[in-house]
Amino acid sequence: MSYVDDVLSYVVEKNPAQPEFHQAVKEVLESLRVVIEANEEEYRKEALLERLVTPERQILFRVPWVDDKGQVQVNNGFRVQFNSAIGPYKGGLRFHPSVNLGIIKFLGFEQIFKNSLTGLPIGGGKGGSDFDPKGKSDREVMAFCQSFMTELYRHIGADTDVPAGDIGVGGREVGYLFGQYKRIRDTYEGVLTGKGLTFGGSLARTEATGYGLLYLTRAMLKANGIDIKDKTIAVSGAGNVAIYAIQKAQQMGAKPVTCSDSTGWIYDPEGIDVALLKEVKEVKRARLTEYAAKRPSAQYHEKKNGEHGVWTVKCDIALPCATQNELDLEDAKALVANGCKAVCEGANMPTTIEATEYLQANKVFFVGGKAANAGGVATSALEMSQNSERLSWTFEEVDSKLQGIMENIFANIDAAAKKYGMEGNYVAGANIAGFLKVAEAMKAQGVV
Ligand code: NDP
Repeated sequence: MSYVDDVLSYVVEKNPAQPEFHQAVKEVLESLRVVIEANEEEYRKEALLERLVTPERQILFRVPWVDDKGQVQVNNGFRVQFNSAIGPYKGGLRFHPSVNLGIIKFLGFEQIFKNSLTGLPIGGGKGGSDFDPKGKSDREVMAFCQSFMTELYRHIGADTDVPAGDIGVGGREVGYLFGQYKRIRDTYEGVLTGKGLTFGGSLARTEATGYGLLYLTRAMLKANGIDIKDKTIAVSGAGNVAIYAIQKAQQMGAKPVTCSDSTGWIYDPEGIDVALLKEVKEVKRARLTEYAAKRPSAQYHEKKNGEHGVWTVKCDIALPCATQNELDLEDAKALVANGCKAVCEGANMPTTIEATEYLQANKVFFVGGKAANAGGVATSALEMSQNSERLSWTFEEVDSKLQGIMENIFANIDAAAKKYGMEGNYVAGANIAGFLKVAEAMKAQGVV
């Protein structure tokens, strides 16, 4: 068997019942085959791939807290410190009932390559909990965050591991987590990113993932002779990534017509009203039914099992920005049938492997999340730089650096795909470009 196949079997054997992690490793290693095969003997001897797929450290912990009724609740906490070859571990915390070790490992593994692609010195990690912030009072969220940090603090630090937000972890949660870290450690340092602007946060971090997605999408389309202006865009999600992707798309002259949440989706042929969407989702934390109630042009559809939501709408570009595996083969077929030209992932692994293959086979330009949503972590790294300098940059400064980083990422993945004979395969290009830097650093640092 080839080295790649050996390692794929090894991952399944050593990590039972973690399908998302298997999927993430398979997706990466399959596209690295050509590079691995060219260096097979050396990599095998150094067990480079076994080391790459095995986290440097996995921390699992109990998170007890007291709810508003005085009842003690217990959740599971996770931090996976996957790879520190090129910098301190960096990656978000996700609070969602679906969180388990396999999901955190899939996200942490992806993060290694994404962070490498940014060109900034950050390693890969991810963490979170099966805690659900939805429907909890501020006091309950604070109690949970304080308990979570009471264990996590001993494993993280500005030069060790710098977590950030992800699904269910926004400004409020980062604030509570930072406060508890500072209190326990008695140290004011940039240990978390996504912080509030009054305590070390970076301007443009909130917008970064969505804006970055559009900077990269525009660069990719331009390289293929397409102008983003006037294009119709289907977006999924109604959270941080989706909202700012919609906003930047509109600033670029495109027309986003959909968004979705976990209970339903909106089709608004006149274009999504971002101010209203922000009010419903960021301020009121309400359902999209409230958006539809205030917007006569919007059609609301309840999410039903087996129904394919936003991807059934005719569009030129699709930007999945909600969650993993939300765009499957049937969705991909609907997009192709409707003439969709490009899919760029705002979320992490929203497109299934079968759907990705179908899109690529049907000549849809496809950029995976590793490259397309790297703007968030890149701006987090810029936040780390500002914290180290004890300075704050202007919005324009951060935004223009973000734009440069995203355009550079596209140039690198495009060049890597071409170099290895896979022109236009941006998934392979991203994996190859991200991997080579990490592999080089791991080799240089010896067997650690
Ligand atoms: P948020 O929690 O802000 O938003 C997530 C959105 O997706 C919400 O609207 C949520 O609905 C919806 N959603 C969640 N699960 C489902 C589901 N099963 N079906 C349909 N909709 C669903 O998260 P973010 O916007 O921050 O993150 C979205 C994705 O982007 C994730 O995959 C995340 O890992 C990735 N990402 C985020 C980055 C960031 O900087 N924020 C950086 C890089 C990647 P509801 O409103 O009902 O909860």
